[in-house]
Amino acid sequence: MSQVRVRFAPSPTGFFHIGSARTALFNWLYARHTGGVFVLRIEDTDKERNSEQFLQVIYDSLSWLGLNWDEGPGVGGAYGPYRQSERADIYREYLAKLKATGRTYEKDGAVWFRLIGDRTEVFDEHRKKTVTKVKAAPTVIQDLIRGRVERVEDEDFVIFRSDGNPVFHFVNVVDDIAMGITHVIRGEDHLSNTSKHVELFKAFGVPVPHFAHIPLILKQQGAGKMSKRDQGALIEEYQRRGYLPEALVNFLCLLGWNPGGDLEKLPLAEIIRLFDLPGVNQSNARFDDKKLAHMNMVYLLALAPDEFVARARAYFERHHPAAPALQAAPEVFQAVMLLAQPKIKGLEELPAYTAYLFTEDYPVDAKVKEKVMGKGDPKTRLTELIASLPGFDFTSDAAIEEGIKALAAKGSLGFGDYQAVARLAVSGTNAGPSITSLFRLLGRDRVRQRLERCLAG
Ligand code: GLU
Repeated sequence: MSQVRVRFAPSPTGFFHIGSARTALFNWLYARHTGGVFVLRIEDTDKERNSEQFLQVIYDSLSWLGLNWDEGPGVGGAYGPYRQSERADIYREYLAKLKATGRTYEKDGAVWFRLIGDRTEVFDEHRKKTVTKVKAAPTVIQDLIRGRVERVEDEDFVIFRSDGNPVFHFVNVVDDIAMGITHVIRGEDHLSNTSKHVELFKAFGVPVPHFAHIPLILKQQGAGKMSKRDQGALIEEYQRRGYLPEALVNFLCLLGWNPGGDLEKLPLAEIIRLFDLPGVNQSNARFDDKKLAHMNMVYLLALAPDEFVARARAYFERHHPAAPALQAAPEVFQAVMLLAQPKIKGLEELPAYTAYLFTEDYPVDAKVKEKVMGKGDPKTRLTELIASLPGFDFTSDAAIEEGIKALAAKGSLGFGDYQAVARLAVSGTNAGPSITSLFRLLGRDRVRQRLERCLAG
């Protein structure tokens, strides 16, 4: 079999969303699985709706997800240019080819593609005009995901508008021919166009590529397709929130593809090995942001310590460049981040989760304060802690725990009797890493200052 050539063909008319990312990913995976070529083609013929900003978002999002293209803008290739706005000559050349087959005609300044079949003129009530209906044989699409699909095209359609610009169906098919595309993998919303495309391929006298239409992504709740406006739909949002791209890729590939069994976290190499088009589900997939958040957490937990710290630093540098965390000594930054690693769901939680470890200027949760200070005798506990601190061994969590326990034993109390108020004092909240770790990282002096501040406030 000849080499597989697939393409991802986005139109830069809006932000890059989950559905587009999944289509790109399935194309990329299929290319990597088969040792084929992944082409990026920009379908930017609609001058009014395209923008350079959206184009940049496509490049950035694909790169961030690691979906590198073998041919396309920026990398070139033997079938360029890869932006449709730069391929006008090729479209004119292919129009001439099609004209030569006798399958086109001109009407009202536009160029039409003529279907084969008996024709009758009928008055279309809806459009309030007379149209020509063609009794053509059904077009058969052998879809690698949907199976056999039949569609009937019953009207000729425009391929070049009266303003001289080619329409989507024409440029899409011409580029698939000119770029040697063997498999068209795209969203199911294009299935309704495919019979037109198949008829064009046949009219050009070239083999029809394989088609694989990927089912829709349904929004989290209710019926209906996920749209760009739905929450959680945009890829750049995940990028901004510090999601790990590999977690998103893993999540996306399970959105409509089933590797068999209940495999969840899969190394990319394994996904590439297992991925195949018949494994893509025929039914629509439902988006589940909790599942995505969970996947992200699973990936975060699995990162090697150095890698986690590097990602955390990159996240701060990019999204919180003024954060005190970045002023801390590298070993302090590292120690704090590793404490947070098993406790957070996403990197976006890090700034708030770790703030009090890097600055004295951290918020105190008023509700927590009210609760903690209203129970037992917290001020006495604080006073006792402050008095005992000089005798504590600060070199390890275990030693600090010893110290607190010894203090508690004197008054027939337990470790727990000191915990809530100590935590409130050093962190302003009631959740976080263990209190002993907090003490150790902050060090004796800062702990004392915070306990005293709490006692005074
Ligand atoms: N440009 C089309 C879109 O963004 C893709 C068409 C195709 O993949 O064939 O929906």
